[in-house]
Amino acid sequence: MQIERRAVGANDVLLDVLYCGVCHSDIHHVRSEWGPDRYPCVPGHEIIGRVLAVGSAVTKFKVGDIGGVGCMVDSCRTCDNCLADREQNCLNGVTLTYNSPDKVSGGHTFGGYSDKLVVTEHFVIRIPPGMDLAATAPLLCAGITTFSPMQYWRVEPGQRVGVVDLGGLGHMAVKLAVARRAEVTVFTTSPGKIADAKRLGAREAVLWSDSEAMKRLANHFDLLITTVPRAFSMQQFVDVLKLDATLVNVGALEDLQSVSGRSLLFGRKNVTGSMIGGIAETQEVIDYCAARNIKADIELIRPDQINEAYDRVVNRDVRYRFVIDMASLKTPA
Ligand code: NAP
Ligand code: ZN
Ligand code: ZN
Repeated sequence: MQIERRAVGANDVLLDVLYCGVCHSDIHHVRSEWGPDRYPCVPGHEIIGRVLAVGSAVTKFKVGDIGGVGCMVDSCRTCDNCLADREQNCLNGVTLTYNSPDKVSGGHTFGGYSDKLVVTEHFVIRIPPGMDLAATAPLLCAGITTFSPMQYWRVEPGQRVGVVDLGGLGHMAVKLAVARRAEVTVFTTSPGKIADAKRLGAREAVLWSDSEAMKRLANHFDLLITTVPRAFSMQQFVDVLKLDATLVNVGALEDLQSVSGRSLLFGRKNVTGSMIGGIAETQEVIDYCAARNIKADIELIRPDQINEAYDRVVNRDVRYRFVIDMASLKTPA
């Protein structure tokens, strides 16, 4: 379908979209799994593009540069949270990359499953030269969402980090925690992913159903990051936290299920959540990954393969991020 992008304003960057990652959030939106959504919905918030034009006041980019856009495209930039580089927590309402009220053009925002995008430069991330562009796209959501809690809870070498489930976010969490020389354990529901978890650098991979291993790992972890896309029974993961340790839910948006108040107070354990990361921190994860050659494991698809890709994500059959190659939209057959 044809969509309208606003004219390039003084602070805007026009991007020619090259690649866009497929996040499970796209599926939640398209299928109205988080409540009735806005349609038409143009998802996509792991966007890599080439700069085609810049407004007169833009200083960060010039034509020909590569820019990245993650989950947000605007915020008030004056509230306490914005001033603290936490634009994602803007007190006046962050504008998400798609399906958010568009405070500039009216209607709602359209994301990266599209040919072109206009974004104010503050929300465009610099992509250093030499990065593998397709495999860098997922860092703009899956990467920052798992990097941010590791920064906030200061994951250090030798600490024990558990990653609950090996999908798009989970596999980035493993790579980023291994890069910090943490001792990483993956929890998965898929026996077929055990070997992959180890290849990615995890010391151990444990099936949810392995009650022996769960017992052995009681009071073991400094930090757990749970990426499960649906509400799930959390107590078995609270049990494996050490005293004072933290479980960060970045997946499920529903009410949390089955957390024993008793276990939290006896063990002074924390259960919390985290949403993406601010723009400065998103630039940081990109630069961090550029310096260490960290990228996502991806499967490139054409736009017309998207429905099949969604089904495979839902069936836990993604290894480990689909990325749409927009080239076929640009070269006439
Ligand atoms: P994904 O690639 O589909 O990975 C999720 C993994 O969870 C699956 O591969 C599977 O791993 C496991 N799983 C357990 N129960 C499942 C179920 N009922 N259906 C499907 N998978 C299940 O998803 P993702 O893109 O990593 O996103 C994960 C969640 O984080 C989504 O809900 C997404 O909306 C959310 N998210 C949050 C933020 C944030 O800012 N907090 C940012 C991005 C995404 P195993 O096979 O290993 O069990
Ligand atoms: Zn996402
Ligand atoms: Zn704000």
